[in-house]
Amino acid sequence: MFSLPTELPELCRRAREKRDARSRRVITYSPKVFLPITNLCRNRCEYCAFRRSPGDPGVWTMSPDEVTTTLDRGRTLRCTEALLCLGDTPETAFPSHRATLAAFGFEDTVGYLDACSRWALSHKLLPHTNAGILSAAQMDRLAETNVSLGLMLETTSERLCQSGGPHARAPDKRPALRLRMLAEAGELKIPFTTGALVGIGETFEEYLETITAIAGLHARFGHIQEVIIQPFRAHAGTRMAVAPEPDLTTLKRAIATARLMLPEDVSVQTPPNLSAGDVVDLLDAGADDLGGISPLTRDYINPEFAWPHLTDLSRSLEDRGYALRPRLPVTSRQRANVRASLEPFLVQAQASLDLGVVPA
Ligand code: SF4
Repeated sequence: MFSLPTELPELCRRAREKRDARSRRVITYSPKVFLPITNLCRNRCEYCAFRRSPGDPGVWTMSPDEVTTTLDRGRTLRCTEALLCLGDTPETAFPSHRATLAAFGFEDTVGYLDACSRWALSHKLLPHTNAGILSAAQMDRLAETNVSLGLMLETTSERLCQSGGPHARAPDKRPALRLRMLAEAGELKIPFTTGALVGIGETFEEYLETITAIAGLHARFGHIQEVIIQPFRAHAGTRMAVAPEPDLTTLKRAIATARLMLPEDVSVQTPPNLSAGDVVDLLDAGADDLGGISPLTRDYINPEFAWPHLTDLSRSLEDRGYALRPRLPVTSRQRANVRASLEPFLVQAQASLDLGVVPA
């Protein structure tokens, strides 16, 4: 039976040891451009500062021109990933969004995402889409243009969906729904990114259940490429604006536990702009990846938290014995599962990374 050390220093030491055997203190990130296609969302997660309803201040849907202009700039800055991110199935809640899509020439959100992904490929950027809950047929369609897809599991806690909980008004955050989508992605052999949200009211036992569920999915299907351990951050204007954020000890325990529970071929990611304290402390808990970092666009989900400057980040990692390296939005271990038609784009993007150009 797998047992974890209870003392944090020993937990982190063992996690580091496992990480170093895997990646030799090379820490990866993906140079990306972030395309927040729309912030309309049918859910209302109590911690979310991103979502809007039609008519709200700050609501947006990117037009085709805005998408291609952003892709142009991303390509100029030698990004290799186009992250397409949006709220959950907005057209099912808001008829006006269906009209917006029709004005752009599309029937639904997935049709628009398919087009945006093709535009990204034509700009030599590799699409990775996180569109919330999708059907198997929708994922199968997007896998033709995306080298990987994503959906945060966040938590398997049903308790947090009850009245007063952070997911009570978010029908798409029901754990069973998300687990089903993750399994369907596995059946389709789609390289997949998922993760846990830490600090939204889950107990440590519930966190362990979440990581266990992800490990179980990967054991069945082998399609999980990375697991994001994302800290909750309290945003002004949300119902959880004054909720306590997870401290460094909680995050280190979460990361080290994930590293030890997940198999060696799955990356453990910590977002460098959201950590409590120095991100290098979280690397010392066994994380091996920093996710997408953009030299161009901000983190639209967490707009108060800027991504670090890559040169500064690289230096502070070097000071602690780590090397920072860019990577593609699909891991080398999952590359064989990418649809064959995307292979030329992967070769092209890898060549760009191999030039060794780190965006400023
Ligand atoms: S976290 Fe995602 S699903 Fe929840 S309200 Fe925000 S955009 Fe919607």
